[in-house]
Amino acid sequence: MSLADLPSLRETLERHGLWAKKAFGQHFLLDLNVTRKIARLAGVGAGDHVIEVGPGPGGLTRALLETGARVTAVEKDERFRPLLDELCAASPDLNVIFADALKVDETALAAGAPAHLISNLPYNVGTPLLIKWLTGPWTPASLTLMFQREVADRITQAPGEDAYGRLGVIVQATCSAERVMDVPARAFTPPPKVDSAVVRLKPLPERPSPERLEALQTITAAAFGQRRKMLRSSLKVLGGEALVEAAGLDPHDRAEVVPVAGFLALADAWIARR
Ligand code: SAM
Repeated sequence: MSLADLPSLRETLERHGLWAKKAFGQHFLLDLNVTRKIARLAGVGAGDHVIEVGPGPGGLTRALLETGARVTAVEKDERFRPLLDELCAASPDLNVIFADALKVDETALAAGAPAHLISNLPYNVGTPLLIKWLTGPWTPASLTLMFQREVADRITQAPGEDAYGRLGVIVQATCSAERVMDVPARAFTPPPKVDSAVVRLKPLPERPSPERLEALQTITAAAFGQRRKMLRSSLKVLGGEALVEAAGLDPHDRAEVVPVAGFLALADAWIARR
């Protein structure tokens, strides 16, 4: 059977007696128009390698395979093995690995060539996965990821906006970030409590060194841990007013107005003082 001859996703789920499990953050996209749009926004095609986290019933996987890309999918829920075996039989370009995406070595999966990360992420591990991909040893060619709308806002908002915080600083220090599609809760089966959005991230050519990224994580944890306090107070244990001045910033500013470049300067000043 080829991809085009596969039965609908709903039929396939029913035939395998599968239902969504809350513990795995499962909210499925069963409308191929939606998954095809995500694949289009990801901009992948023949010759590209995609790593997809959480294929589940395989709706997004089908859309990605239709572009001609080669897909390595990582799924934690073993219940999907028979269903995904059928999808593998329909496409020579799909390889499925049953593992926890938090623990897989993407460098080994990518085998030394560029790979694009695309996923309708499980809500419960979306943020830790993103931090792993942005600060770990492997750099994706691009990331096209579905998050809860509130997390998408935290990723893309600028200083002074409500959702700007630690996650946005780490993302924007390493990538260009754009919210490219809003997806209402009703598009999922079962519908989650909140709406979602797809963000597209492109790693910057000049990625901060691992040492700078580690320092950035420490600085942002302290600064946004007490986001209403002035930097000279929230960063007291890391160097306080002297550290903030060494970074060329105003010690009276609060974390929520400091731009990403300011946090990188703080990370550099902290490294220099260690
Ligand atoms: N891609 C499918 C879709 O769009 O319909 C399913 C998306 S569902 C939101 C998240 C998927 O991630 C589920 O299949 C779930 O089993 C899987 N998952 C959850 N935690 C995971 C983990 N730590 N590693 C790999 N897959 C995981």
